[in-house]
Amino acid sequence: MNIPFVDLKQQYLSIKKDIDTAIENVITNTAFIGGKYVKEFEAAFASLYGVKHVIACANGTDSLYIIMKMLGIGNGDEVITVANSWISSSETITQAGAKPVFVDIHPDYYSIDEAQLKNAITSNTKAIILVHLQGQMANIEAVENICKEHGIFLIEDCAQSHFSEYKGKRAGLFGIAASFSFYPGKNLGAYGDAGAIITNDDELASKMRMYANHGALVKHQHKIEGINSRLDGLQASILSAKLPYILKWTEQRISNAALYNKHLTGIEGVVLPEVRPESKHTYHLYVIRAKKRDELAKYLKDNGVETAVHYPTILPNLEAYSYLGLTPDQFPVATAYQQEILSLPMYPELTEEQIKYIAQKLKEFYQN
Ligand SMILES: *Cc1c(COP(=O)(O)O)cnc(C)c1O
Repeated sequence: MNIPFVDLKQQYLSIKKDIDTAIENVITNTAFIGGKYVKEFEAAFASLYGVKHVIACANGTDSLYIIMKMLGIGNGDEVITVANSWISSSETITQAGAKPVFVDIHPDYYSIDEAQLKNAITSNTKAIILVHLQGQMANIEAVENICKEHGIFLIEDCAQSHFSEYKGKRAGLFGIAASFSFYPGKNLGAYGDAGAIITNDDELASKMRMYANHGALVKHQHKIEGINSRLDGLQASILSAKLPYILKWTEQRISNAALYNKHLTGIEGVVLPEVRPESKHTYHLYVIRAKKRDELAKYLKDNGVETAVHYPTILPNLEAYSYLGLTPDQFPVATAYQQEILSLPMYPELTEEQIKYIAQKLKEFYQN
C-alpha cells in the first residue's frame, strides 16, 4: 500500500467539475486580481464562518504581518508567541519591527503553556500571537484573560485551525483579529498561495484592507504607503468552489482521527493526541509522540507510508534566532518533543483500511 501524507489530487478529482468551472469563469471574465471572485469569496467565508469582515490577502504570513502593522506594533515592542510553530508566527513579528518572545508548549496539548505566558510579559509587550496548532485550540479562555488583564492585543493564528471551536465558538473569533492561510495543504486550501484576515472591528478592517492594497481603498487614492498583498481571482474562485465541502471534510478529518485513536490504542511507546476539554480539534495534523521516532518514520516509509515532523527544530532553536541568545533548556518541553513528534497521514479522503494498515505497521515496528 502507498499512503501519501496528504492527497490533494484525490480531492480535486472528487470535485473536478466545480473546480474546472471555477477556473474557467475567472479566465472568461478576466478577473485576475481582486474583483468579483475575491469579493464573492470574502462574503461567502464571512457568512459561513460567522464574522463581519474578511480581508483576503496573498498568504497567511502576510495576514499576520498586516494585522500587527495596522495595530501599530513596531520598534521597541515585544510580541509573544509559542516555541513550536511554523516560522511565520515569529518572523512576522520581526518584520513588523518588534521583538519575538517565545514561550514553551503545554505538555499535553502542544500549544502555548498559559502557565508560563505571564512570566514572559514585560512593559513592552504589545500582543500575543496565539497559534491554534494542528487544529487544536490553545487555552483561549486563560490567554484571553491574561491579555485583558495586561491590556495586550490577542491575535489568533488560525492557519491550522479552520473551523476549530472552543465551547461552540470558532477559532479566530476571540481576539482582535485572526489570520488564516489557504496554502494548498491547509484544511481549506487554494491551488497556490492565499490567505485572509478576519475581524469584527470595522475601523481595523478598513485599515488592513487599505494596507494590503498599496494603502488605497479607492484606486490611486493612497492614504498611506502599503504593500501588495492581494488575492488573485483564480485562488478566490477555487476557494469558493471548495467552501461548500469544508464542513463535511472537517467532520471526515475528525472521524479519521477517531479511527486512528481506535486502531492505535495500547501501543507501548506511542502517545496519542489529546483533545482539550470542551473544544473541537479539526486535525489539520494528527500528531503522535513516538519512541525511536526517526527509526519508526523510516520503517513506515519503507512500507509506503509517508509521515512528516511539525517541526523538527523549534523556533528558538533555529539558526535564524541565534541572535536572541536563547538556549534549548529554556524550552524543555518543546525541545524534548521535537525528537518525538510524528505527523501521520491526515486528510478527509483517508480510508479506514488505510488507517488500519498504518496502525498495523506501527504495531509491527514496536513488536520487532
Ligand atoms: C501555514 C502557516 C502560516 C503561514 O501561512 P502561509 O500561507 O504559508 O504564508 C502561519 N502560521 C502557521 C501556524 C502555519 O501553519
